[in-house]
Amino acid sequence: MRIDAVSRNWLTKKFGANVCFDEPMARHTSLRVGGPAEAFIAPNSFERLVELVEWSFKKKIPYVVVGHGTNLLVKDSGIKGLVIVLMDCLCTIERKEGEKEGVMVTAMAGARIQSLCSYALVNGLNGMNFALGIPGTVGGGIMMNAGTALGSMESVLKAIHVLQPWGAVKRVGIENLAFSYRGLSWKENQLSNGPSLSFIIDGSFLLHPSDPHELKKEAEKIQGARKKSQPFGRLSAGCFFKNPRTGKTAGELIELAGLKEISIGGAGVSPIHANFIINNGNATAADILALMETIQEKVLQTFNIYLEEEVKIIGS
Ligand SMILES: Cc1cc2nc3c(=O)[nH]c(=O)nc-3n(C[C@H](O)[C@H](O)[C@H](O)COP(=O)(O)OP(=O)(O)OC[C@H]3O[C@@H](n4cnc5c(N)ncnc54)[C@H](O)[C@@H]3O)c2cc1C
Repeated sequence: MRIDAVSRNWLTKKFGANVCFDEPMARHTSLRVGGPAEAFIAPNSFERLVELVEWSFKKKIPYVVVGHGTNLLVKDSGIKGLVIVLMDCLCTIERKEGEKEGVMVTAMAGARIQSLCSYALVNGLNGMNFALGIPGTVGGGIMMNAGTALGSMESVLKAIHVLQPWGAVKRVGIENLAFSYRGLSWKENQLSNGPSLSFIIDGSFLLHPSDPHELKKEAEKIQGARKKSQPFGRLSAGCFFKNPRTGKTAGELIELAGLKEISIGGAGVSPIHANFIINNGNATAADILALMETIQEKVLQTFNIYLEEEVKIIGS
C-alpha cells in the first residue's frame, strides 16, 4: 500500500464521491478484467485535477491517467497508487475561427472520440471519419495514435496541451510529437525513465469544410463495414496485437497458425476476427495473458514473427 491513512483522508475530503478506494478496474475496462486500483479518482473540475496532480507529485504517490479503458489490460493484482480519469472534467469540443488552412477543432482529453466524429459530421467538417467506431477518449486516442486503414490521429492532429506534474500546462506542437504505429511520445516522455507523469489534456485537429451529405454517406459505409468485420457486442480491447510492418496481418497469422477460436479459461480468440481476444464472461487477466503468450509462442514458432501487443498492459 502506498496511500497511507493521512493521504486517504485528504483524498476523501477533496474528492468526496469522486474517489473510490480499492476500486476493481474490471469496472473500467472494456475487457472487464483487472484488480483494484488503490484509489480511482475522477476530478470534476480542471482546478481539482491540477491540485491532485501537484499533491501526488509532491507526495511521490504514483499516478496513471487512463481514458475509457478500451485499450487496457489491467493485471489481476491491480494498480498501486492513483488511477486518474478525465471524463468528468475535460469533455468539451470547440472550434476556433479564423484558420486559413481549415477549421481548428479543440477536443478535451476526456471527450469521446465518437463525440468528436459526430461534431465533425454535424458541422460538415472532413477529417475525422477514419475514427468512426473507435471507442475511447480523445486523450487515449491521441496517446495510442488510434486509427484504421483510412487514417490515424497523426493525420489530423496539430498540437496537444499536456499537464505537467508540477501543475504547469505546456503546448506541444506537431513538430515535437513523435508518432508511431499505435503510439506517441514527445521529448519529455522519451527522456523520463518509467511512465511519463505529463499527460494530455487536449488536442487540436485541423479539419476541412466539406459537403455534409457526402460525409454522412461515407460515414454510413464505414460504420457498416466495421460491424461486419468485428465481433460486435463482445468484451474485448479491439485488436490485441500490432500488425507486422509487412506481409500478413496479425489476425491472418493467428488464423494460419491454427489458433482461431482457441481459449484458455474464460478468454478466447474471436471466431470473427482472430486478432480480437474476447472475455467470454468469466475471464481473469491471467487467462488473457496466458492466451496472449500462447499465441505469441505459436506464431513465433510457425512464422518466426513476434507479435507485439497493441493493448497496454498495466498493473503491479
Ligand atoms: C471494440 C473495439 C474496437 C476498437 N477499434 C479500434 C480501431 O479501429 N483502431 C484503434 O486504433 N483502436 C481501436 N480500439 C482500441 C481503443 O479503442 C483505442 O486505442 C482508443 O484510442 C483507446 O482510448 P481509451 O480512452 O479507451 O484509452 P485507454 O485504453 O484508457 O488508455 C490507453 C493508453 O493511453 C493512456 N492515456 C489515456 N488517456 C491519456 C491522457 N489523457 N494522457 C496520456 N495518456 C493517456 C493510458 O494510460 C493507456 O496507456 C478498439 C477497442 C475496442 C474495445
